[in-house]
Amino acid sequence: MISFEELINDEHVKAEYKKAVLLSLFKKVISKKKNDSLYRIRIDNLFKESFNRVRTIQIILKNDFGCEIDEEDAAIMNDWFLANERKKSTRNSMSLELKKELCKKQNGRCVCCGKKFSDDYSSIHVDHVIPWVLVGDELKNNYQALCEVCNESKSSRTDYMISKLLKII
Ligand SMILES: [Zn+2]
Repeated sequence: MISFEELINDEHVKAEYKKAVLLSLFKKVISKKKNDSLYRIRIDNLFKESFNRVRTIQIILKNDFGCEIDEEDAAIMNDWFLANERKKSTRNSMSLELKKELCKKQNGRCVCCGKKFSDDYSSIHVDHVIPWVLVGDELKNNYQALCEVCNESKSSRTDYMISKLLKII
C-alpha cells in the first residue's frame, strides 16, 4: 500500500501537476481574451510589439495573475499560444497509422488506466493531451491513445491524469 504522501511526491505526479497548473494559467488567459475585448487587444498588441515572446508571457502572468513562472515553462506556454493563434476550426481525422504508432509507443495499453487495446485498434480513442479546444491540431506530439472510458471521463479536464495517478477516481 502506497501512502498518499508517497504518491504526491512521485515524480510523474509532480510533472503532471506542474503541467496542469501551467495549463490552467494558459486557459485563464485564453478565456479572458475571449470574454474581454479590451484585454484581447492588449494581449495581442503585447505579442505584436514583443521582441521576446517568452519574456512577454512571463510579464503577462506576473502582472495579471500574480504568478511568476520560469523561462523554460514560459517557452512551453509560448508553443501553446502560437498553436492557439494558428488553430483551425475543424479537427484533423485520426488515421489508422497514428493509432498504430501510439499503440506501439504505449505498449498496446491506455495511457491512463492501462487497459489493453483490441488487436484491430478499434478500441483506441486518440486524445489531445493539451485539449483541442485550446491548441487545435497544431502541436507536435500532442496525441495519446486512451480507452473509451478514459476518453469520455477526461474530455477537456486538465487534472484527469493526476486524479488517476493519485488513484482518487
Ligand atoms: Zn483507460
